[in-house]
Amino acid sequence: MTDMQNRQDKASLLLLYTGGTIGMKQDPNTLTLKPFDFSQILAEVPELAKFAYRIDSVSFDPIIDSSDVDPAVWKEIARLIDVHYDEYDGFVVLHGTDTMAYSASALSFMIEGLTKPVIFTGSQLPIGLPRTDGKENLISAVEIAAAKDANGHAMVPEVCICFDNRLLRGNRTKKVSADEFKAFRSPNMPPLAEAGISIRYNDAIIRKPVDWDARPAFTYDLDTRVSILKIHPGITRQVVRNILCGEDTRAVIIETYGSGNAPASEWFLSLVSEASAMGKVLLNVTQCLAGVVNMGIYANGKAIQDCGVTGGGDMTVEAALGKLFYLLGKSAENDAVKRNLALNLRGEISI
Ligand code: ASP
Repeated sequence: MTDMQNRQDKASLLLLYTGGTIGMKQDPNTLTLKPFDFSQILAEVPELAKFAYRIDSVSFDPIIDSSDVDPAVWKEIARLIDVHYDEYDGFVVLHGTDTMAYSASALSFMIEGLTKPVIFTGSQLPIGLPRTDGKENLISAVEIAAAKDANGHAMVPEVCICFDNRLLRGNRTKKVSADEFKAFRSPNMPPLAEAGISIRYNDAIIRKPVDWDARPAFTYDLDTRVSILKIHPGITRQVVRNILCGEDTRAVIIETYGSGNAPASEWFLSLVSEASAMGKVLLNVTQCLAGVVNMGIYANGKAIQDCGVTGGGDMTVEAALGKLFYLLGKSAENDAVKRNLALNLRGEISI
């Protein structure tokens, strides 16, 4: 047995179970889906015992459907990782699929300088059903969370989503299917790893910490005064005004068409200018699944750029939301937030 194999076999992992389909099984009497006692995870997935890892688990109380996830849940996930950081080699977060891309994005910003993997996973079918995708997803997530390189460093010290044999950077990921096993994609970033007969890591694009020995910095101050304005044909002045100029928002993500285009009507542009003059952070993110915002291509893009809108590059809306909560929490100065939005903080934007 090589040193590396030996080290990996001794890996210790913490599973955080927040809820979602993955932790459900069918009640044999009523045939309804119910959460199972997560401390029995090894009984449900006996394959995990074939790894020689130490696997501990913590279950949220109450466990939740991920449609109920809010920043308090993200803070609790971060807190558990923070408190147990030195005890484990990696962390696996079991989470419902509906908001997994939001949670993985937010956590990627809340933890700076990660040296260990934080791997989110879940499933489309409950783990207690014969055709479940949950076992395979969990087993791959566990193996990846334990993986070390020849220097004994984590193979993937990033916040990721492991689903359907692919490891995706969390803040690049979107849920793209409500019913296929291939539920997630990261259209603007290739997978960080793919699980076939062996797990093939795309090491060239995996982010590494500047200092492997430094403890990461955890941020718990999130400012959620952010709205999302999705542009569509027929959008009304009232809706645009309410969202852009609302007193309680510091920032608005404007989900535009294509490469960052929006209506160039006089009323629309004057509301954008008004919000900008109020000092709000206005961030342009495309509604398209893939591609990048470039407001210099079309006159309609240039028009909103001239009203003070910042380009979001190829960020997903999920990443943009987490990044704004994080940056607004860090600074009371909206101009500083605008400057930092353009920076690549955690691999969320190609620049
Ligand atoms: N509604 C569930 C959730 O997101 C769906 C799932 O787990 O896949 O919690």
